[in-house]
Amino acid sequence: MSSREVQYKTPATDWQTLAYWEGCGRGEIVLQRCSDCGQVQHRPRGLCVACFSSALEHFAASGKATVYTFTVTHQNGMPAFRDACPYVLAYVDLEEGPRLMTHITGCDPDTVAIGMAVKAEFVTTDRGLAVPRFIPA
Ligand SMILES: [Zn+2]
Repeated sequence: MSSREVQYKTPATDWQTLAYWEGCGRGEIVLQRCSDCGQVQHRPRGLCVACFSSALEHFAASGKATVYTFTVTHQNGMPAFRDACPYVLAYVDLEEGPRLMTHITGCDPDTVAIGMAVKAEFVTTDRGLAVPRFIPA
């Protein structure tokens, strides 16, 4: 396990992403669902990616996911990441469908596997926002 964690900055927000980052600040993965066709999507957008409707609702996802793929980073010279090496960068498939790029933490990187069950946890930043990452379920 890493001696130190990745140092997350406060997320940059705009009118499309603010609800997502505020949700993370409450400990929730907030996704969008199209009221017209039912499509669940992430990243947040102003229109449905399936039918282009603007009738989108936000809802709190379960926070449960499975690892789709991952890599273990052993070298990164960026100050926010340098001391966290080795760390796991992964794509996880949320239970509700969307795929999210994230970190897997809370375990030895050598124990992470494709298909592994994980759950969200949140690192608080400024302005009541947070960054999600995942730990073994
Ligand atoms: Zn739609």
